[in-house]
Formats: sequence, structure tokens, C-alpha cells
Amino acid sequence: MLGIFGGTFDPIHFGHLRTAFEVKESLGIIDLRFLPCRTPPHRNSPGASPEQRLLMLKLALQDADAGFSIDCRELNREGPSYMVDTLASLRKEVGNQPICLILGYDAFAALPSWHCWRDIFNLANLAVMQRPNSPDPALNKELSEIMLARRVKGADVLNMHPFGKIGIVRVSQLAISATLIRNLIASGKSPRYLLPDPVLAMIQSTGLYQSRNPSHLNNI
Ligand code: ATP
Repeated sequence: MLGIFGGTFDPIHFGHLRTAFEVKESLGIIDLRFLPCRTPPHRNSPGASPEQRLLMLKLALQDADAGFSIDCRELNREGPSYMVDTLASLRKEVGNQPICLILGYDAFAALPSWHCWRDIFNLANLAVMQRPNSPDPALNKELSEIMLARRVKGADVLNMHPFGKIGIVRVSQLAISATLIRNLIASGKSPRYLLPDPVLAMIQSTGLYQSRNPSHLNNI
């Protein structure tokens, strides 16, 4: 099964890396791709440029022999990075092989705000990871009905379906977010041990996130 972990990665941190690793292990994903978006449609502009976010991803994964790779298709595509377009292009490449979109509870709860979100279930399975302080997806009636109808238990079931199923995956609960890291840096504190050292070194050498840019603060 192909795993797709989409995000802004502004910056990548251990909350992404550890949970991705645990999902990969528990679902038996062979190829897990981190897929950075170019222009996030549902949030403020990232603090780092697409090139800087890609460089941070490369630094984070450089020594990892974890079966992770980076997929640059959204970075190479002009316009808003709609996940439905990304999954459609992946589907053309992999044929009938199962695709699993990996996302945290917060992203899953926000799914109804995504472009053509219902079509996503015709393209991929979803692996939803618990995340501390996430809103309850049951707050959206249609989403909770979809969850009820499509939820399966066990990795085998997800692996048997090319798309359309939802699995909830238990992962270590790490209250780490990119917002927390940006805010620590902006207030002159160190985010050390929340993200890989080479990524922190790159942030420090470029002065990223040091100014209290409003786009950093709106996601607190
Ligand atoms: P920000 O604070 O800027 O919103 P973020 O830390 O949520 O960023 P994103 O790049 O927006 O990171 O997230 C990409 C994906 O990773 C989302 O599906 C999100 O739910 C998931 N994710 C991020 N951090 C964690 C975490 N600590 N535990 C579980 N899932 C996470």
C-alpha cells in the first residue's frame, strides 16, 4: 500500500516523523511519501518558502532508512494544492493499488472544508491518527455518518481496498505542532528536541520564523 502524508511542514517536526513511522509500521506501508503542499488552500501562507520547506524535509529524512520518501508533485504544480487533484494524479500512476492518505484528527475534522472532499473517498483510503487537542470530527454530521459507514478495523482490511475505507490508527500522543515551534522561535526560545537537529540548524542559519509574522500567529 502506498502511504501519502500531506502537509505544510512549516517546519517538519517529530510529531510528523514519529507518527508517520508508527502508521507505516502498523499498516505495513511499503512506500510512505511526505507530500509538501505548495500553496495551502485552507490556511495562511506558510512562514517558509516552498523551497525552504522542501529543504527542511530533505534534512529531516537524510539519514533515515525508514522507507520514507518525498513527493514533490504539489510543489511542481501551479495554483492551490488541492489534495483531490494530487490523489487523482497518483491514482493514474498506481492503477488499482491501495492508496492511504494519512492525516491527523485535526485535519480529518477539517475535511469538509477541502475542495471536492467527498471525491477523496473514491481515490484513497484514509488513516486517521489521534492527535492531542484536536477538534472532534463528530461535530460535523455528514463526516460522522461517513466515518460510521466507511470505518474498518485492522490493517488487513485497508490493504485489501484500493480506496474508500477509513482506519483509525493509534499513535504516540505528541503535543508538538509547527505553530508551537514557530512561536517558540519568534519569542526567542529554542525548539530543540521537538524537531531534528539538522532542521533546527537550517532554521537558525537562515533566521526563519524569527519575526512575529502574523501568518505564524493565526494558527495558535
Ligand atoms: P501547524 O501548526 O502550522 O498547523 P502542523 O504541526 O499541524 O502545522 P502540518 O504540516 O499542518 O503540521 O500537518 C500535516 C499533517 O500532520 C496533518 O494531517 C496533521 O494532522 C498531522 N500532524 C502534525 N503534527 C502531528 C502530531 N503531533 N500528531 C499527529 N499528527 C500530526
